[in-house]
Amino acid sequence: MKDSKLYPSYEEYGQPKKNVLVISCIDLRLTDNLLEFLHFDNLINRYDHVAMAGASLCGSYKKNQDKFHPEAVKKYKSIPHWENALMDHVQIAYDLHDIGDIYIVEHEDCGAYKKFLKQGEVKDRKKEMHLHKKYADDLTEKIRAKLPALNVHSFILDLRGNVRML
Ligand SMILES: [Zn+2]
Repeated sequence: MKDSKLYPSYEEYGQPKKNVLVISCIDLRLTDNLLEFLHFDNLINRYDHVAMAGASLCGSYKKNQDKFHPEAVKKYKSIPHWENALMDHVQIAYDLHDIGDIYIVEHEDCGAYKKFLKQGEVKDRKKEMHLHKKYADDLTEKIRAKLPALNVHSFILDLRGNVRML
């Protein structure tokens, strides 16, 4: 029997009418689950996709850099620039593909949150969920300030492939 996943209803975020930009983490455990959700959402070949380790985390670096571990920033030198790279991708997706919505897709047990943030920031699941919401909200605010016409929705994938709103 095929297992069925739990997804949010359209009432919770509104069905996208135009194209979509998806911003996700790179996590290989959830590639198929993300695709399954997007296909379920009737988005086959209707989305651009930017994958960056930590998803919204590195899209909010400037505002939250005091939370990042200095050793991580030293090792992964371009982290401070990921935010600009991401925002340029939002702009190009808007200019080229007429996107109307952005899906920020965070996920449970994200290695980038553990690797990039100072020790103790992600001490348990509850704290991690709080951080996903916080960084997704920060990124949403940034996108809305730049392109107010876009609808931005934040989701979190669990390790079984279920999706809920953040
Ligand atoms: Zn991740």
